[in-house]
Amino acid sequence: MKSLIFLRKDKTDLPKGHLSHYILLIMTITLFIFIFGICIGSFLNVCIYRMPAGESIVTPRSHCPKCNQLIAWYDNLPLLSYIILRGKCRHCKEPFSIRYFLVELLTGICFLLIHWVFKGVSPASIIYTILAAGLIVVTFIDLDHLIIPDEISLSGIVFGLLVAGFLTFFPYLGGGFIIENGTILTYPMGKYIPLVNSFLGVLFGGGILLLIGVIAKAILKKDAMGGGDVKLLAMVGAFIGWQLVILTLMIASLIGSVIGSIQLMMLKRKDHSTELTGHYIPFGPYLALASFISLLWGNALIEWYLSLLSQGMVPPANGGMLP
Ligand SMILES: [Zn+2]
Repeated sequence: MKSLIFLRKDKTDLPKGHLSHYILLIMTITLFIFIFGICIGSFLNVCIYRMPAGESIVTPRSHCPKCNQLIAWYDNLPLLSYIILRGKCRHCKEPFSIRYFLVELLTGICFLLIHWVFKGVSPASIIYTILAAGLIVVTFIDLDHLIIPDEISLSGIVFGLLVAGFLTFFPYLGGGFIIENGTILTYPMGKYIPLVNSFLGVLFGGGILLLIGVIAKAILKKDAMGGGDVKLLAMVGAFIGWQLVILTLMIASLIGSVIGSIQLMMLKRKDHSTELTGHYIPFGPYLALASFISLLWGNALIEWYLSLLSQGMVPPANGGMLP
């Protein structure tokens, strides 16, 4: 934080009228980021439905899948149109999936969370919103089709490495402002992972999953890990670095095993023939969710865990036995 240039030291320094201006400014920025998020979410819906079919995400304009009528711009407003039209086509009343609405809302919330945790707008927070958008698309395509498009994972790896390299060699382009304790602070240098860490992130993210896949295949004699998952975690590593990508894998496995066991229990209850061996649960959505958690709170989680270790509250790996 040494590189911070303090514009205002403390909000209590401000004359009274300025505080309400400050709150107004924060509210405006927050609203702007949310509206921007739901608009991007509307575009992500298009990506989710068209990318697996190999269709263009730019043309043609959206139309109703049943009556083929073009959807006018005023019927295509994120969140609002769905509420006004009650989720139905204006012309033929064909109901649209609630998922359009949910993806828009989710994107808006993710964008807000990023700007809240990283406290403001900076090249880093903008890069993370791009990552979040990619993760949302991957999540829903993987849920629908059990695939993770290379267009996202491979180009994500290249993009992640490029921005890390760019901000490493031109750190002054990474500056921005943050909002902390009622104060707007600008900082001239980027707070982003260095290129080396981005590269190690790709290596660790992809490498560990690849290794697990190879070992599992040798034991189970069938493909256990999708190549899409390997490329996805490599992509995430390019954005968040090797430490957080390892944490991502741990969190994803934890979420995956909890949700997986719940699903198995529900399947067992429904179907006593327990034909579960062929049941494939996509791992991509867990990886995506875990990446987002690591991105936002990973460093805090690691710090908290290390502080527990140093206080001796977590028993050492040998169960506290003396050697
Ligand atoms: Zn229609």
